[in-house]
Amino acid sequence: MMGPDRRLTVLGGLASLSACAAQPRIGSGLSPADLLPPLAPIRAHRDRLFDITVCLRPFRAAGPRLDTEMIGDALVIHNYGHGGSGWSLSWGSGTLALEKAMSRGPKEIAVIGSGALGLAAATLALRAGLSVTIYCKELIQQARSARASGLWTPDSRIAMAKDAAPGFGDTWERMARISWKTYRDYLGLPGNPVEFRDRYSLSDGATAQEDDQGFAAYAGRIDDLTPRSVALPAEVTPFPVTGVRRTSTLQFNVHDYAHQLLGDIRAMGGKVVVREFHDPGEFGQLKEKVVINCTGYGARALMGDQTIVPVRGQIGWLIPQPEVTYGLYYRDVSVISRSDGIVVQSLEGGDLKGFNNDHEVPDRAESEAAVDVIENLYARFRA
Ligand SMILES: Cc1cc2nc3c(=O)[nH]c(=O)nc-3n(C[C@H](O)[C@H](O)[C@H](O)COP(=O)(O)OP(=O)(O)OC[C@H]3O[C@@H](n4cnc5c(N)ncnc54)[C@H](O)[C@@H]3O)c2cc1C
Repeated sequence: MMGPDRRLTVLGGLASLSACAAQPRIGSGLSPADLLPPLAPIRAHRDRLFDITVCLRPFRAAGPRLDTEMIGDALVIHNYGHGGSGWSLSWGSGTLALEKAMSRGPKEIAVIGSGALGLAAATLALRAGLSVTIYCKELIQQARSARASGLWTPDSRIAMAKDAAPGFGDTWERMARISWKTYRDYLGLPGNPVEFRDRYSLSDGATAQEDDQGFAAYAGRIDDLTPRSVALPAEVTPFPVTGVRRTSTLQFNVHDYAHQLLGDIRAMGGKVVVREFHDPGEFGQLKEKVVINCTGYGARALMGDQTIVPVRGQIGWLIPQPEVTYGLYYRDVSVISRSDGIVVQSLEGGDLKGFNNDHEVPDRAESEAAVDVIENLYARFRA
Protein backbone atom coordinates (compact mmCIF):
# COMPACT_ATOMS: atom_id res chain seq x y z
CA MET A 1 0.00 0.00 0.00
CA MET A 2 1.08 3.48 -0.38
CA GLY A 3 1.05 5.98 2.31
CA PRO A 4 2.62 9.03 3.73
CA ASP A 5 5.35 7.26 5.51
CA ARG A 6 5.94 4.79 2.77
CA ARG A 7 4.84 6.08 -0.53
CA LEU A 8 5.04 2.59 -1.88
CA THR A 9 2.15 1.60 0.35
CA VAL A 10 -0.20 3.21 -2.09
CA LEU A 11 -3.06 0.85 -1.68
CA GLY A 12 -3.83 1.79 1.82
CA GLY A 13 -4.19 5.31 0.61
CA LEU A 14 -3.67 7.39 3.59
CA ALA A 15 -3.45 4.05 4.95
CA SER A 16 -0.32 4.61 3.17
CA LEU A 17 0.70 7.11 5.67
CA SER A 18 0.70 4.13 7.71
CA ALA A 19 4.11 2.73 8.01
CA CYS A 20 2.77 -0.30 6.33
CA ALA A 21 4.93 -3.20 5.48
CA ALA A 22 7.80 -2.17 3.30
CA GLN A 23 6.09 -3.44 0.17
CA PRO A 24 2.47 -4.11 -0.72
CA ARG A 25 1.60 -7.72 -0.10
CA ILE A 26 1.17 -9.38 -3.43
CA GLY A 27 -1.67 -11.78 -4.04
CA SER A 28 -1.34 -14.98 -5.99
CA GLY A 29 -3.10 -13.72 -9.13
CA LEU A 30 -6.49 -13.18 -10.69
CA SER A 31 -9.31 -15.63 -11.01
CA PRO A 32 -12.63 -15.10 -12.83
CA ALA A 33 -14.09 -14.05 -9.49
CA ASP A 34 -11.71 -11.10 -9.51
CA LEU A 35 -13.21 -9.51 -12.62
CA LEU A 36 -13.78 -5.83 -12.30
CA PRO A 37 -17.26 -4.68 -11.36
CA PRO A 38 -18.47 -1.64 -13.33
CA LEU A 39 -16.85 1.44 -11.81
CA ALA A 40 -18.79 4.69 -11.70
CA PRO A 41 -16.73 7.80 -12.45
CA ILE A 42 -16.08 10.32 -9.70
CA ARG A 43 -17.40 13.80 -10.47
CA ALA A 44 -14.32 15.63 -9.30
CA HIS A 45 -14.73 19.35 -9.93
CA ARG A 46 -13.82 22.28 -7.74
CA ASP A 47 -17.43 23.51 -7.53
CA ARG A 48 -18.46 20.16 -5.98
CA LEU A 49 -16.16 20.73 -2.97
CA PHE A 50 -18.77 21.34 -0.29
CA ASP A 51 -16.45 21.44 2.73
CA ILE A 52 -12.79 21.49 3.69
CA THR A 53 -11.76 20.24 7.11
CA VAL A 54 -8.50 20.12 9.03
CA CYS A 55 -7.56 17.75 11.82
CA LEU A 56 -4.45 17.44 14.00
CA ARG A 57 -3.12 13.95 14.66
CA PRO A 58 -1.96 13.63 18.29
CA PHE A 59 1.47 12.14 17.62
CA ARG A 60 3.96 11.01 20.27
CA ALA A 61 7.38 9.74 19.20
CA ALA A 62 7.30 7.06 21.91
CA GLY A 63 3.80 5.92 20.96
CA PRO A 64 0.52 6.66 22.75
CA ARG A 65 0.47 7.38 26.46
CA LEU A 66 -1.03 4.29 28.12
CA ASP A 67 0.31 4.49 31.69
CA THR A 68 -1.63 5.14 34.88
CA GLU A 69 -1.27 7.59 37.75
CA MET A 70 -3.12 8.55 40.90
CA ILE A 71 -4.63 12.02 40.88
CA GLY A 72 -6.12 12.67 44.29
CA ASP A 73 -7.82 9.39 45.13
CA ALA A 74 -8.68 8.62 41.50
CA LEU A 75 -6.87 6.07 39.34
CA VAL A 76 -6.31 7.80 36.00
CA ILE A 77 -5.59 5.59 32.99
CA HIS A 78 -4.15 7.54 30.10
CA ASN A 79 -5.29 6.60 26.60
CA TYR A 80 -4.19 9.36 24.26
CA GLY A 81 -1.66 10.16 21.53
CA HIS A 82 -2.60 7.70 18.79
CA GLY A 83 -1.28 9.75 15.86
CA GLY A 84 -2.89 8.74 12.57
CA SER A 85 -4.20 5.45 13.96
CA GLY A 86 -6.79 6.49 16.52
CA TRP A 87 -9.87 5.01 14.88
CA SER A 88 -8.02 1.89 13.85
CA LEU A 89 -6.58 1.11 17.28
CA SER A 90 -9.48 2.40 19.37
CA TRP A 91 -10.87 -0.99 20.41
CA GLY A 92 -7.53 -2.52 21.26
CA SER A 93 -6.33 0.52 23.15
CA GLY A 94 -9.66 0.73 24.97
CA THR A 95 -9.39 -2.93 25.95
CA LEU A 96 -5.96 -2.35 27.49
CA ALA A 97 -7.28 0.68 29.37
CA LEU A 98 -10.28 -1.24 30.65
CA GLU A 99 -8.09 -4.08 31.91
CA LYS A 100 -6.23 -1.54 34.04
CA ALA A 101 -9.50 0.00 35.21
CA MET A 102 -10.92 -3.39 36.24
CA SER A 103 -7.93 -3.99 38.53
CA ARG A 104 -9.71 -1.60 40.91
CA GLY A 105 -13.03 -3.48 40.67
CA PRO A 106 -15.00 -0.30 39.98
CA LYS A 107 -18.78 -0.15 39.59
CA GLU A 108 -18.61 3.17 37.78
CA ILE A 109 -16.01 4.93 35.69
CA ALA A 110 -15.50 8.27 34.00
CA VAL A 111 -14.24 8.55 30.43
CA ILE A 112 -12.83 11.94 29.50
CA GLY A 113 -13.34 12.66 25.81
CA SER A 114 -15.76 11.49 23.17
CA GLY A 115 -13.48 11.06 20.18
CA ALA A 116 -12.58 7.69 18.68
CA LEU A 117 -10.75 6.57 21.81
CA GLY A 118 -13.32 7.81 24.31
CA LEU A 119 -16.30 6.24 22.53
CA ALA A 120 -14.59 2.87 22.25
CA ALA A 121 -13.46 2.89 25.90
CA ALA A 122 -16.95 3.87 27.09
CA THR A 123 -18.57 1.15 24.96
CA LEU A 124 -16.23 -1.51 26.30
CA ALA A 125 -16.83 -0.42 29.91
CA LEU A 126 -20.59 -0.54 29.41
CA ARG A 127 -20.31 -3.98 27.85
CA ALA A 128 -18.39 -5.02 30.98
CA GLY A 129 -21.39 -3.96 33.07
CA LEU A 130 -20.00 -0.71 34.48
CA SER A 131 -21.88 2.51 34.92
CA VAL A 132 -20.20 5.03 32.58
CA THR A 133 -20.19 8.80 32.30
CA ILE A 134 -18.38 10.49 29.42
CA TYR A 135 -17.18 14.00 30.21
CA CYS A 136 -16.09 16.00 27.17
CA LYS A 137 -15.61 19.49 25.91
CA GLU A 138 -16.98 18.50 22.50
CA LEU A 139 -19.23 15.66 21.41
CA ILE A 140 -17.93 13.40 18.67
CA GLN A 141 -19.40 15.49 15.86
CA GLN A 142 -17.16 18.41 16.89
CA ALA A 143 -14.18 16.33 18.04
CA ARG A 144 -11.12 16.03 15.82
CA SER A 145 -11.88 12.35 15.25
CA ALA A 146 -14.86 13.37 13.12
CA ARG A 147 -12.41 14.88 10.63
CA ALA A 148 -10.44 11.70 9.94
CA SER A 149 -10.29 9.92 6.59
CA GLY A 150 -11.79 6.64 7.75
CA LEU A 151 -9.47 3.82 6.76
CA TRP A 152 -7.86 0.95 8.61
CA THR A 153 -4.42 2.52 9.17
CA PRO A 154 -3.27 0.99 12.46
CA ASP A 155 0.38 2.04 12.22
CA SER A 156 0.00 5.43 10.62
CA ARG A 157 2.20 7.86 12.53
CA ILE A 158 1.87 5.88 15.70
CA ALA A 159 5.50 6.31 16.86
CA MET A 160 8.98 7.12 15.60
CA ALA A 161 11.04 4.04 14.74
CA LYS A 162 13.95 5.25 16.82
CA ASP A 163 11.96 6.56 19.78
CA ALA A 164 9.20 3.96 20.28
CA ALA A 165 8.91 2.84 23.90
CA PRO A 166 10.51 -0.56 24.64
CA GLY A 167 8.01 -3.33 23.94
CA PHE A 168 5.64 -1.00 22.14
CA GLY A 169 5.65 -3.22 19.04
CA ASP A 170 4.09 -6.05 21.06
CA THR A 171 1.55 -3.70 22.62
CA TRP A 172 0.72 -2.32 19.18
CA GLU A 173 0.18 -5.79 17.77
CA ARG A 174 -2.19 -6.71 20.58
CA MET A 175 -4.14 -3.48 20.08
CA ALA A 176 -4.33 -3.97 16.32
CA ARG A 177 -5.50 -7.59 16.56
CA ILE A 178 -8.21 -6.77 19.12
CA SER A 179 -9.40 -3.81 17.06
CA TRP A 180 -9.56 -5.80 13.83
CA LYS A 181 -11.64 -8.47 15.53
CA THR A 182 -13.95 -5.96 17.19
CA TYR A 183 -14.66 -4.14 13.96
CA ARG A 184 -16.35 -7.35 12.88
CA ASP A 185 -19.23 -6.32 15.21
CA TYR A 186 -19.97 -3.30 13.03
CA LEU A 187 -19.97 -4.90 9.58
CA GLY A 188 -23.28 -5.42 7.81
CA LEU A 189 -25.27 -2.97 9.94
CA PRO A 190 -27.82 -0.58 8.43
CA GLY A 191 -26.03 2.46 7.08
CA ASN A 192 -22.79 0.49 6.74
CA PRO A 193 -20.87 2.25 9.51
CA VAL A 194 -17.96 -0.06 8.73
CA GLU A 195 -17.43 -1.93 5.47
CA PHE A 196 -14.87 -3.40 3.13
CA ARG A 197 -14.26 -1.49 -0.06
CA ASP A 198 -12.00 -2.02 -3.06
CA ARG A 199 -9.20 0.45 -3.39
CA TYR A 200 -7.20 1.04 -6.57
CA SER A 201 -3.64 2.24 -6.62
CA LEU A 202 -2.89 3.86 -9.96
CA SER A 203 0.50 4.64 -11.40
CA ASP A 204 1.71 6.34 -14.56
CA GLY A 205 5.01 4.57 -14.35
CA ALA A 206 6.66 7.35 -12.40
CA THR A 207 9.12 6.00 -9.88
CA ALA A 208 7.80 6.24 -6.36
CA GLN A 209 10.35 7.32 -3.82
CA GLU A 210 10.60 6.07 -0.30
CA ASP A 211 9.70 8.76 2.18
CA ASP A 212 8.97 7.17 5.51
CA GLN A 213 9.85 10.26 7.59
CA GLY A 214 11.18 7.96 10.30
CA PHE A 215 7.80 6.68 11.49
CA ALA A 216 7.68 3.21 13.00
CA ALA A 217 6.26 0.47 10.75
CA TYR A 218 4.48 -2.45 12.38
CA ALA A 219 1.98 -3.59 9.73
CA GLY A 220 4.12 -6.59 8.84
CA ARG A 221 3.21 -8.08 12.23
CA ILE A 222 -0.41 -8.48 11.17
CA ASP A 223 0.11 -9.53 7.58
CA ASP A 224 -2.07 -12.54 8.23
CA LEU A 225 -5.12 -10.32 8.89
CA THR A 226 -5.34 -8.02 5.92
CA PRO A 227 -6.14 -8.76 2.26
CA ARG A 228 -3.32 -8.74 -0.25
CA SER A 229 -3.11 -6.46 -3.25
CA VAL A 230 -3.22 -7.79 -6.79
CA ALA A 231 -1.97 -6.26 -10.02
CA LEU A 232 -4.64 -5.84 -12.71
CA PRO A 233 -3.84 -5.53 -16.40
CA ALA A 234 -4.35 -1.81 -16.86
CA GLU A 235 -6.16 -2.34 -20.18
CA VAL A 236 -9.03 -4.25 -18.54
CA THR A 237 -9.65 -1.34 -16.21
CA PRO A 238 -11.21 2.02 -17.08
CA PHE A 239 -8.23 3.89 -15.67
CA PRO A 240 -5.95 5.69 -18.17
CA VAL A 241 -2.71 4.64 -16.48
CA THR A 242 -0.05 1.99 -16.92
CA GLY A 243 -0.17 0.34 -13.49
CA VAL A 244 -3.21 -0.69 -11.46
CA ARG A 245 -3.25 -2.58 -8.19
CA ARG A 246 -6.34 -3.43 -6.18
CA THR A 247 -6.86 -4.37 -2.58
CA SER A 248 -9.80 -4.51 -0.18
CA THR A 249 -9.68 -2.07 2.70
CA LEU A 250 -11.64 -1.77 5.90
CA GLN A 251 -13.36 1.60 5.79
CA PHE A 252 -15.10 3.58 8.53
CA ASN A 253 -17.96 5.79 7.40
CA VAL A 254 -17.11 8.04 10.29
CA HIS A 255 -20.37 9.98 10.60
CA ASP A 256 -22.56 6.89 10.49
CA TYR A 257 -20.18 5.00 12.70
CA ALA A 258 -19.92 7.75 15.33
CA HIS A 259 -23.69 8.06 15.34
CA GLN A 260 -23.97 4.32 15.88
CA LEU A 261 -21.44 4.35 18.72
CA LEU A 262 -23.06 7.23 20.56
CA GLY A 263 -26.52 5.71 20.10
CA ASP A 264 -25.31 2.36 21.45
CA ILE A 265 -23.71 4.08 24.45
CA ARG A 266 -26.93 5.88 25.29
CA ALA A 267 -28.97 2.71 24.75
CA MET A 268 -26.74 0.89 27.25
CA GLY A 269 -27.33 3.62 29.83
CA GLY A 270 -24.13 5.60 29.33
CA LYS A 271 -24.32 9.29 30.26
CA VAL A 272 -22.67 12.17 28.45
CA VAL A 273 -21.81 15.41 30.27
CA VAL A 274 -20.41 18.34 28.34
CA ARG A 275 -17.66 19.78 30.52
CA GLU A 276 -14.20 21.22 29.95
CA PHE A 277 -11.34 20.37 32.30
CA HIS A 278 -8.70 23.02 32.84
CA ASP A 279 -6.37 21.11 35.13
CA PRO A 280 -5.77 17.37 35.61
CA GLY A 281 -6.42 17.92 39.31
CA GLU A 282 -10.10 18.16 38.38
CA PHE A 283 -10.08 14.43 37.53
CA GLY A 284 -9.53 13.73 41.22
CA GLN A 285 -12.66 15.69 42.11
CA LEU A 286 -15.00 13.55 40.03
CA LYS A 287 -17.33 11.18 41.86
CA GLU A 288 -15.95 8.30 39.76
CA LYS A 289 -12.66 7.08 41.20
CA VAL A 290 -11.48 5.38 38.03
CA VAL A 291 -10.96 7.70 35.07
CA ILE A 292 -9.89 6.89 31.49
CA ASN A 293 -8.28 9.94 29.93
CA CYS A 294 -9.01 10.04 26.17
CA THR A 295 -8.40 13.69 25.46
CA GLY A 296 -6.35 13.25 22.27
CA TYR A 297 -4.55 16.37 21.09
CA GLY A 298 -6.32 18.24 23.91
CA ALA A 299 -3.99 16.45 26.36
CA ARG A 300 -1.13 18.63 25.16
CA ALA A 301 -2.67 21.64 26.89
CA LEU A 302 -4.61 19.86 29.63
CA MET A 303 -1.81 17.56 30.79
CA GLY A 304 0.99 19.94 29.78
CA ASP A 305 2.23 17.06 27.62
CA GLN A 306 4.65 18.67 25.20
CA THR A 307 5.60 15.26 23.82
CA ILE A 308 2.42 15.49 21.73
CA VAL A 309 3.28 16.82 18.29
CA PRO A 310 0.48 18.02 15.99
CA VAL A 311 0.48 16.41 12.55
CA ARG A 312 -1.86 18.39 10.36
CA GLY A 313 -4.06 16.74 7.76
CA GLN A 314 -6.67 18.32 5.49
CA ILE A 315 -9.62 16.79 3.65
CA GLY A 316 -11.55 18.30 0.76
CA TRP A 317 -15.10 16.91 0.65
CA LEU A 318 -16.80 16.27 -2.67
CA ILE A 319 -20.57 15.79 -2.75
CA PRO A 320 -21.35 12.13 -1.94
CA GLN A 321 -21.89 9.72 -4.83
CA PRO A 322 -23.42 6.49 -3.51
CA GLU A 323 -22.79 4.85 -6.88
CA VAL A 324 -19.02 5.17 -6.34
CA THR A 325 -18.24 2.08 -4.31
CA TYR A 326 -14.43 2.17 -4.42
CA GLY A 327 -11.50 4.34 -3.43
CA LEU A 328 -8.24 5.13 -5.16
CA TYR A 329 -4.79 6.55 -4.83
CA TYR A 330 -3.27 8.48 -7.74
CA ARG A 331 -0.36 10.90 -7.98
CA ASP A 332 -0.19 11.40 -4.22
CA VAL A 333 -3.90 12.05 -3.90
CA SER A 334 -6.04 9.70 -1.84
CA VAL A 335 -9.76 9.40 -2.57
CA ILE A 336 -12.25 7.57 -0.35
CA SER A 337 -15.92 7.35 -1.23
CA ARG A 338 -17.84 7.53 2.04
CA SER A 339 -21.56 7.80 2.60
CA ASP A 340 -21.08 11.34 3.97
CA GLY A 341 -18.85 12.62 1.19
CA ILE A 342 -15.94 11.80 -1.05
CA VAL A 343 -12.69 12.36 0.82
CA VAL A 344 -9.92 13.97 -1.28
CA GLN A 345 -6.60 14.26 0.47
CA SER A 346 -3.26 15.41 -0.88
CA LEU A 347 -0.17 13.76 0.50
CA GLU A 348 2.60 15.56 -1.34
CA GLY A 349 0.76 18.89 -1.28
CA GLY A 350 -0.47 18.59 2.32
CA ASP A 351 -0.16 15.66 4.66
CA LEU A 352 3.53 15.05 4.15
CA LYS A 353 4.15 18.65 5.21
CA GLY A 354 1.94 18.40 8.28
CA PHE A 355 4.45 17.36 10.94
CA ASN A 356 4.57 19.82 13.82
CA ASN A 357 2.00 22.03 12.10
CA ASP A 358 -0.94 23.06 14.28
CA HIS A 359 -2.57 25.37 11.74
CA GLU A 360 -6.22 24.32 11.76
CA VAL A 361 -7.44 26.80 9.17
CA PRO A 362 -8.31 25.13 5.83
CA ASP A 363 -6.15 25.88 2.79
CA ARG A 364 -8.55 25.88 -0.17
CA ALA A 365 -5.78 25.89 -2.75
CA GLU A 366 -4.43 22.60 -1.37
CA SER A 367 -7.78 20.85 -1.79
CA GLU A 368 -8.50 22.38 -5.19
CA ALA A 369 -5.14 21.19 -6.50
CA ALA A 370 -5.93 17.66 -5.30
CA VAL A 371 -9.37 17.76 -6.94
CA ASP A 372 -7.74 18.94 -10.19
CA VAL A 373 -5.55 15.82 -10.22
CA ILE A 374 -8.60 13.59 -9.91
CA GLU A 375 -10.61 15.63 -12.43
CA ASN A 376 -7.80 15.19 -14.94
CA LEU A 377 -7.81 11.43 -14.32
CA TYR A 378 -11.54 11.14 -14.98
CA ALA A 379 -11.35 13.32 -18.08
CA ARG A 380 -9.46 10.35 -19.58
CA PHE A 381 -11.53 7.62 -17.86
CA ARG A 382 -12.76 4.85 -20.17
CA ALA A 383 -16.38 4.69 -19.06
C1 LIG B 1 -6.54 14.10 8.19
C2 LIG B 1 -6.56 12.94 9.16
C3 LIG B 1 -6.98 11.71 8.74
C4 LIG B 1 -7.00 10.63 9.61
N1 LIG B 1 -7.42 9.44 9.15
C5 LIG B 1 -7.44 8.37 9.97
C6 LIG B 1 -7.85 7.11 9.47
O1 LIG B 1 -8.21 6.98 8.31
N2 LIG B 1 -7.84 6.05 10.31
C7 LIG B 1 -7.45 6.19 11.62
O2 LIG B 1 -7.43 5.19 12.34
N3 LIG B 1 -7.07 7.38 12.12
C8 LIG B 1 -7.04 8.47 11.32
N4 LIG B 1 -6.62 9.68 11.79
C9 LIG B 1 -6.19 9.79 13.17
C10 LIG B 1 -7.36 9.96 14.11
O3 LIG B 1 -8.20 10.98 13.64
C11 LIG B 1 -6.86 10.29 15.52
O4 LIG B 1 -5.90 9.37 15.94
C12 LIG B 1 -8.04 10.27 16.48
O5 LIG B 1 -8.99 11.21 16.05
C13 LIG B 1 -7.66 10.55 17.91
O6 LIG B 1 -8.84 10.39 18.64
P1 LIG B 1 -8.97 10.85 20.14
O7 LIG B 1 -10.25 10.29 20.65
O8 LIG B 1 -7.73 10.51 20.89
O9 LIG B 1 -8.98 12.44 20.09
P2 LIG B 1 -10.15 13.53 19.69
O10 LIG B 1 -10.96 13.09 18.55
O11 LIG B 1 -9.40 14.80 19.60
O12 LIG B 1 -11.06 13.51 20.95
C14 LIG B 1 -10.68 14.11 22.17
C15 LIG B 1 -11.87 14.27 23.04
O13 LIG B 1 -11.43 14.81 24.29
C16 LIG B 1 -12.11 16.02 24.56
N5 LIG B 1 -11.23 16.93 25.28
C17 LIG B 1 -10.00 17.33 24.91
N6 LIG B 1 -9.51 18.18 25.83
C18 LIG B 1 -10.46 18.30 26.80
C19 LIG B 1 -10.57 19.03 28.01
N7 LIG B 1 -9.58 19.85 28.42
N8 LIG B 1 -11.69 18.91 28.75
C20 LIG B 1 -12.71 18.12 28.34
N9 LIG B 1 -12.66 17.40 27.20
C21 LIG B 1 -11.55 17.49 26.45
C22 LIG B 1 -12.50 16.55 23.18
O14 LIG B 1 -13.57 17.48 23.30
C23 LIG B 1 -12.90 15.26 22.49
O15 LIG B 1 -14.21 14.89 22.85
C24 LIG B 1 -6.58 10.78 10.95
C25 LIG B 1 -6.18 12.04 11.38
C26 LIG B 1 -6.15 13.11 10.50
C27 LIG B 1 -5.67 14.43 10.97
